[in-house]
Amino acid sequence: MVRYRCPALDHQETITMAIDFTLTSQQRELQQSARDFAAKTLVDVADTIRHLPTAEERFLATRPAYEELVAQGWLRKVIPAPVGGECNGMVDMALIAEEFYAVDANVSLTMFASLLGLLPVLNAGNPDQIQQALTPFLSGTGTPLAAFCHSEPGGIANFDEPAPAEGTRTSAVLDGGQWVINGAKQWISSATGWDSKGADILTVVCRTDTNPLADADRSLSVLLVPKPDRGFVSDENFDTMGHRGHLTPRFHFDDVRVPRENVLGEVGGGKALVESSFAGTAALVGIFGVGLMRSAFDFALHFAKNERRAGRVPIIEHQAVGYALADAKIAIETARYLSWKACDALDHELPSAFELAVQAKIYGSETAVKVITELMRVVGIDSYNHNLPLAGLLQDAIVLPLFDGGNMGVRRRQLHHLLASSDYDPLATVIS
Ligand SMILES: Cc1cc2nc3c(=O)[nH]c(=O)nc-3n(C[C@H](O)[C@H](O)[C@H](O)COP(=O)(O)OP(=O)(O)OC[C@H]3O[C@@H](n4cnc5c(N)ncnc54)[C@H](O)[C@@H]3O)c2cc1C
Repeated sequence: MVRYRCPALDHQETITMAIDFTLTSQQRELQQSARDFAAKTLVDVADTIRHLPTAEERFLATRPAYEELVAQGWLRKVIPAPVGGECNGMVDMALIAEEFYAVDANVSLTMFASLLGLLPVLNAGNPDQIQQALTPFLSGTGTPLAAFCHSEPGGIANFDEPAPAEGTRTSAVLDGGQWVINGAKQWISSATGWDSKGADILTVVCRTDTNPLADADRSLSVLLVPKPDRGFVSDENFDTMGHRGHLTPRFHFDDVRVPRENVLGEVGGGKALVESSFAGTAALVGIFGVGLMRSAFDFALHFAKNERRAGRVPIIEHQAVGYALADAKIAIETARYLSWKACDALDHELPSAFELAVQAKIYGSETAVKVITELMRVVGIDSYNHNLPLAGLLQDAIVLPLFDGGNMGVRRRQLHHLLASSDYDPLATVIS
C-alpha cells in the first residue's frame, strides 16, 4: 500500500492506492524454491518420455517425478490452507505454476488437473466429503490423482443447453440409497489413474434429472466418486500433439454406484459448481502460457546473443531480431500481470474476478502461441528440430486456447454474455 497525494485534486485529498505487484518475502521464497525444484526434478521429464511410443508409457514414465513432487510437498502447496494444505491463495499458486510450466508442462498439468478434480469438493463439499477426498492428497506420500470428469464424446461446449440439445449426457439415477452412473467421458486429465482402473478421486458432472426438458440450472449435479471397484471402463488414451507425458483418456461408466450422500453441494447445483471450478483454473491457464513463453524467450535471447549464423555479428545486432525480442518480452510481462490481477481478484472475491480470469485465460493462451511462433522465427530453421526446445514449447502451448473451456466455444461466449448483461459495468475491472 502506498499513500498518494494527487496534485490535480482541488482539495488535495490523500488517496490510498493498493496497486502493488511487489511479491512478499514469503512469495519470493516460494518462487525460488519452485524454480529450484523444477530445475532439479522436472527438467529431465521431456527427455525421459521423448522416445516412448504410447501415451500410457509416457504417462507412466512421469510417475517418479510426480511422486517426488508429492514427497516434496508441492501438492500440499496448491491445496488451500483452511482444509489442511499450505496454499495461501491464487497468486501463490500462479508463482508455482509459472516456475513449473517453464520447465515441464506434463507433470505440472498432472498436478494442476488433480487440483481441478478436487475443486468441486473444495467449493461445495461437506466436512466429511472434504476429509474423505483430500486425505491422500495431503499425506505427502504416493502418487494420488484426482480428475474432473466434465468433457464428453461429441462435445461439451453446450453442456447446459436445454432440449432439443443433448447437453450433458452422462446420467446418474437413484436406485435405493445409491446413484447409478452411466455414460462416457473423454479428454479427462489422469482419469484412468496409473492402472487404467480409475483415479483415486473422480468428480463427475452428470444429469441427475433425466427429463430432457429439465432446466440445466436444476438438472446437473457433481458426484464424488472414489476409485470404483467395478464399472469404470477405460476405452482409449489419446495421442496428443503436446503435453505428451500427460494422460487424457476416453472411458465410460457402466453402472458405477456411489452412496446417495456423495453428491457435492445441492442435487441439481452442478452447473454453478462447474462454472466456479473453471473460474480459478482460467487465471492459471494464462500463467501456463507465461511459463512456456518465458522458457522460449530465454532460449531465443541466448541464441540471438551468441549466434552469428555465418554473419559478422550476433543476430541480436540486427534490428528486426531485437524488435521481435522486445515485442515478445512486452507480451510476456502483460500476460503475467493480467493473470496476477485475476488471481488477486479471485483471492479477494472481487466482482471483477470472473471477467479478469477469463480475459487472462484467453489473452495468456493465445499470446503464448503467437509469441512462441515469433521466437521460432527469431531462431530460424533450427527451431524446427526437436533437439532445441522451441518446437516442444509450441506443441505444449497450442492446447492452451483449446482446453479448460475452448476460447471459441466457451470462454469468449462467457465474456459475450457478461458484456451483454444489463448490469454490466465496464469499469468494474478498474475499480475493484
Ligand atoms: C491436455 C488436456 C487436458 C484436459 N483436461 C480436462 C479435464 O481434466 N476435464 C475435462 O472435463 N476436460 C478436459 N479437457 C477437455 C477440454 O478442456 C474441453 O473439452 C474443451 O475445452 C471443450 O472445448 P470446446 O469449446 O472445443 O468444446 P466442443 O464442445 O468440442 O466444441 C468444439 C467447437 O465447436 C464450436 N462451438 C461449439 N459450441 C459453440 C457455441 N455455443 N458458440 C460458439 N462456438 C461453439 C467452437 O468452435 C468449439 O471450439 C482436456 C483437454 C486437453 C487437451
